[in-house]
Amino acid sequence: MINFQYLRTTTAKSALALLVKDKNAKFLAGGTNLIDLMKRGVSAPEKLIDINHVPLKQIEQVGNKIHIGALATNTAVADNKLIKEQLPLLSWALQAGASAQLRNVATVGGNMMQRTRCGYFYDTEMPCNKRVPGTGCGAMEGFNRMHAIFGTSDKCIAVHPSDMCVALVALDAEVIISNSKAERKISFKDFHRLPGDTPQLDNNLKADEMIIRLEIPMNNLAKNSYYLKVRDRASYAFALVSVAAGLEIKDNKIYNISLAMGGVAHKPWRLTAAENFLKGKEATTENFEQAAKLAMVNAKGFGENNFKLKLAPNSIIEALNFAKSKA
Ligand code: SF4
Repeated sequence: MINFQYLRTTTAKSALALLVKDKNAKFLAGGTNLIDLMKRGVSAPEKLIDINHVPLKQIEQVGNKIHIGALATNTAVADNKLIKEQLPLLSWALQAGASAQLRNVATVGGNMMQRTRCGYFYDTEMPCNKRVPGTGCGAMEGFNRMHAIFGTSDKCIAVHPSDMCVALVALDAEVIISNSKAERKISFKDFHRLPGDTPQLDNNLKADEMIIRLEIPMNNLAKNSYYLKVRDRASYAFALVSVAAGLEIKDNKIYNISLAMGGVAHKPWRLTAAENFLKGKEATTENFEQAAKLAMVNAKGFGENNFKLKLAPNSIIEALNFAKSKA
């Protein structure tokens, strides 16, 4: 690990002013991924700006939206009464992630910013276009059991590791971002990027910006929602495939639906074609099977991860059936 300077600040304004001064600085919140990256020599910031004391931990209803500060911990959000009642999908997704100890310090903003767990990315002896652009992709013809089946490029086939982000993309969250001059708002589905020719970029946050809060619209999906995570062991493991499913059923028909998958792409993967197919239809296993087929169009395996081509549609059908049965 290299030497670095440690600074602590208590306002977003001063944090952003410090960030602008030094392009090699990084924000430190829970540090559950960043410190690992530094220990392994993958990331080497010269300055760490500790933002844990910046007052961005609110979880509150504002009009018809729920606002969650970027520094609210994963545990605080998962255990919050409002979240459990109104957005249970988010609470379940958070509880499915990491371990209790990690969730106690990991923040919402940090969860969004965490980097892929591709083994080649963390091994500085191996080729990796995400870590060092232009060096190649070790996973493409190597160990790729955990890797993507959607939205890949010839540069990178990594997946985004978050559970929380799968629920947030399904819930139509928006991200409020700030630089030292102004705030901007982007849809959560546009926050993370596909690898394309620039796999080193995980998301669309600019170098001089910080995440301020999430805004999530209230919905009627709470009664019929489910987060299914398929993984190698029951806890503290990343998803092979996960599905966030929310249904609003009226007169036996699907009136509204939110469906997204994790563990399958470089970003949380919203299943828009499957959603459109199911809107207005009856919530039957036969229709769920058709929707799962539509969701898998353009899926592609890379060898070791070919099993996901079967696991993913089966998981979609299972998650939808679980969501339906919760009525
Ligand atoms: Fe690197 Fe992406 Fe290839 Fe993994 S999949 S080795 S992160 S370029």
